[in-house]
Amino acid sequence: MNFSGKKITVAGLARSGVGAANLLVRLGADVTVTDLKPEAEIGEQLLRLSSKVRKVLGAHPDELFSGADMIVVSPGMPLSVPPIKKAISANVPVIGELELAYLYSDSPFIAITGTNGKSTTTTLVGEILKASGMKVTVGGNLGNALTEEPDLLRGRDYIVAEVSSFQLETVKKFRPKISALLNITQDHLDRYRNMKEYAAAKARVYKNQTLKDCLVVNLDDAPSAALAKKAMCRVVPFSRKECPGGGVFVKGGVLVSAVSGAEERIIEAKDIRIRGVHNLENALAAAAITLAAGARAGAVEKVLREFPGLEHRLEFVREINGVSYINDSKGTNVGAVEKSIESFTEPVILLAGGLDKHSDFSPLKKLVRERVKRLVLFGKAADVMDEAIGGETETVRASSLKDAVLKAKDAASRGDVVLLSPACASFDMFMDFEDRGRQFKEIVRSL
Ligand code: ADP
Repeated sequence: MNFSGKKITVAGLARSGVGAANLLVRLGADVTVTDLKPEAEIGEQLLRLSSKVRKVLGAHPDELFSGADMIVVSPGMPLSVPPIKKAISANVPVIGELELAYLYSDSPFIAITGTNGKSTTTTLVGEILKASGMKVTVGGNLGNALTEEPDLLRGRDYIVAEVSSFQLETVKKFRPKISALLNITQDHLDRYRNMKEYAAAKARVYKNQTLKDCLVVNLDDAPSAALAKKAMCRVVPFSRKECPGGGVFVKGGVLVSAVSGAEERIIEAKDIRIRGVHNLENALAAAAITLAAGARAGAVEKVLREFPGLEHRLEFVREINGVSYINDSKGTNVGAVEKSIESFTEPVILLAGGLDKHSDFSPLKKLVRERVKRLVLFGKAADVMDEAIGGETETVRASSLKDAVLKAKDAASRGDVVLLSPACASFDMFMDFEDRGRQFKEIVRSL
């Protein structure tokens, strides 16, 4: 695709916006970035921006949108905001940073999406392919934007990309060699009108795939399995509960692959280092993806045996007087919190709350009633959560994260687990989920 001389507006100046703008400059485009935030609020991203990029900050003037040859929109910006809507009706092409990375790359993509488990699975896939001797780049929604280091997008065996539904909304030609659909549970209903719309965004991951490509899908997750029926490519299923032909599954406590026809033993499930049923799903997904990509079974085994898990995902912080403190700050929706509580057999003291995404918390009722000894609520969503699930167990309010930790400590006795798994976004009180997780760890370490 030729970007030279094109007037391109990059809307939204987060990490991916800077990456996209700099790459477009390198491709000879005439680039303007715009963000509603004023310069002072954008901070260090600006330092990374090429001096050849024009900046229009604190406003989104119409002419930058309707008058552009193309718009590269940030995943944080819905296509329904007025300037983007106007541009679309003026036939200005609107793509996202993922599509740009794909257009620039000459290497096959592996694209991993789902409500939960993306980062864990994407990281596992990267590690397994590397252990198989392949040259890979891992990124996307994982903290580093793909366009940040454009040279890493070329000459690779695979680009392993974690992709969110927001990023998928703006793909056009994006056609991964392997896509993966991990699960679809309720999330982001502040952005999508309903679950159907959310699932439709996720389904865009395979919409351009053909018979030469493959979709890895979680057979145990009904919405994902239903979507996979519509795929035009080869489907590789994975399951904890069944033994699907051509897929990856658990048989007699062993993770088995039938991806290349005959059944092959990979590793005993009990030897997988990351714990919990959800992580077993992530391990199955990673095995299915990498074996379909040509990885060695020995590499899958080695990585699953050794990989310790990511920060902020059921991360063990410390034990005090027989009480374990766990940081699951990335548990930002109901589905994730369900899996996190289910991962413990011990009584749980749950710290939850933050910025609500119009979620229905009622699916947590039964688990809270049966497994949660005390519920400590904080942040903007505390009222809504209290109403939905507060009646199921002893529930208290906290004025800050520190107060929440202290109220958890008060109620904890030997053998309990204090779990921060908020079921909400973090932006009401923190920079992001990482900031929330780090602050939690500091507080716990200072106890
Ligand atoms: P994502 O990148 O999709 O947010 P992560 O791997 O970062 O996924 O995990 C986010 C949270 O979701 C974790 O806190 C964990 O408790 C939960 N989780 C991880 N994998 C799964 C899964 N396969 N199904 C449900 N919940 C999961």
